[in-house]
Amino acid sequence: MLGMRKGLGVSPGVALGRAYCIHEIFVNPETRQLAEHQVQAELRRYEQARDRTEADLQALYHKVASQVGRDEAAIFQTHQAILRDPSFTNRVRAWIADERETAQGALHRLLNDYTSLFARTKDEYIKDRLADVRDVVIRLSGHLSPMLDRAVKELAGPIIVVAQELLPSQVMAIGDRQISGVVTQSGGRTSHAAILARSRGIPAVSGVEGILKQVKNGDLVVVDGRTGDVLINPDSETESAYRKLQREFFHLKDVLAENRDQRPVLADGTEIELLANINSVEDARAATAVGASGVGLFRTEYLYLTHPDVPDEEEQLTAYRAILDASPGHRVTIRTLDLGGDKTIPYLSRDREANPFMGWRSIRLSFEHPEFFATQIRAILRAAAPRRRKPGHLRIMFPMITTLEEIRRVKAMVARARRRLTAQGKAHGDIPLGLMLEVPAAAVSIERLLRVVDFVSIGSNDLVQYLMAADRDNPKVSHLCQPLSPPVLQVLTQVIAACNRAGKPVTLCGEMAGQPRAFVLLVGMGLRSFSMSPAFIPSIKELAAHLTGEQTAKILKRALKLDTTDQVNRYMAREIGRLAPNLRILDMG
Ligand code: PEP
Ligand code: MG
Repeated sequence: MLGMRKGLGVSPGVALGRAYCIHEIFVNPETRQLAEHQVQAELRRYEQARDRTEADLQALYHKVASQVGRDEAAIFQTHQAILRDPSFTNRVRAWIADERETAQGALHRLLNDYTSLFARTKDEYIKDRLADVRDVVIRLSGHLSPMLDRAVKELAGPIIVVAQELLPSQVMAIGDRQISGVVTQSGGRTSHAAILARSRGIPAVSGVEGILKQVKNGDLVVVDGRTGDVLINPDSETESAYRKLQREFFHLKDVLAENRDQRPVLADGTEIELLANINSVEDARAATAVGASGVGLFRTEYLYLTHPDVPDEEEQLTAYRAILDASPGHRVTIRTLDLGGDKTIPYLSRDREANPFMGWRSIRLSFEHPEFFATQIRAILRAAAPRRRKPGHLRIMFPMITTLEEIRRVKAMVARARRRLTAQGKAHGDIPLGLMLEVPAAAVSIERLLRVVDFVSIGSNDLVQYLMAADRDNPKVSHLCQPLSPPVLQVLTQVIAACNRAGKPVTLCGEMAGQPRAFVLLVGMGLRSFSMSPAFIPSIKELAAHLTGEQTAKILKRALKLDTTDQVNRYMAREIGRLAPNLRILDMG
């Protein structure tokens, strides 16, 4: 099948590879039939997977019950009940035994049956139970055979994952495999799966409706993460043109990687700070490898998302120390748990909300579980304690702060945690405390908030979605969720000026920090500290060397006079072409 589809480029670069389609999240249809003599072994394999799943759920229940609460843990009892339900397991067994289906195939069929059954109900509570069945099936399926291991075996060479959507925890799972590109039907440019793809330098396109109907496993797919183009089985001429582009992309990355030991400075000699956004120790190492000045954002929720149950205080302490040791300059800003929205774990934030991004997420969720939250704060304070011959500079920041009361509340919690650690005789450090500026209300009252915090980090991904009232995950409104829109530029200019006037350090850690067009404007606003996916640091360092404070201030002045996002984009594309033509391949529209 030959075709070209257009989506939203969410991670730059060009990739070619064989399609691997994920139809139902992590549970793929399998049509292979077993031979008669394989049936008993397959039944045993299924039983083993069931036993392991049961043991997982049991362990999860106990850990969550002791660390978070019995109510939150109850979900895992529900999952155990589903797993033990005879109608669930008898059907799977019967399909394996009587129809010689593989266990994976039978699970997929079961999920389909449940999906059509549940589709007929309007009851939201019942619909939520489908999510529980799906969770159990995915867990079982994971014990049968990890999906991507199979894909890597089945398809030789680089793989392009084609999926409805990828959840952050799934991108983490595919992290180090041979994935060269990602195409999804939904998701926006700052959805967390896109952020992860970018941090791994994997070109990605989202919002390609119906692509799963058009592509089948093994098709040759080209992903152009700059333009959003996706080509399916291109002719040989087009294929070789894209292979050439891909080589140029790799070459540019290699060339830029050579500037890792240079200090990041503007052409006029002004020092700037290029920090990294990380989710794991591997990312911290990547940040060191590209020559980042430190870590400006450690998204701690990934510790929870990838943990088999709940990380306790000691486990967190070990993890934070490991991050500190692996990070450039041993400088790390840790952000407390930021769950909800598109990042959920089953024992928290379970209730379905009409507007998850506007609802019970982030710091709001943490406040709701004070003991759980305090555990994290204690672990961070302990990680900040001086260690012999192990230097470290830790800062703590709180996401999605909306009001002054919230900051007062976290400060009181930090003070209480410190008193408790002192009483227990546990070493801890005194660390700077910052807020993430992500909510327009906080931008409006920035002067007031600055009086009570040590530093500010602008979370532009959220700030843009809230300012523009346009979901960052929804490709249908991505034309609105634009960091270069005039109102966003105006608010950012004001916030950065307020921080500079107050003499409080300010960093921007949203995705726009790594986008050439936005970077130029931010420098023009007087920002000198940026935090981004490690993958972007070499190119931004290169770009910075072409800029001066004065010239960017002029560019900003002109951009602020423009009326539409489109005009700003066109103007900035021209400026990038003029200032650093070699970086054009990384410039996303
Ligand atoms: C942001 O909102 O800009 C940010 C850095 O946080 P996250 O992307 O994790 O929401
Ligand atoms: Mg955010």
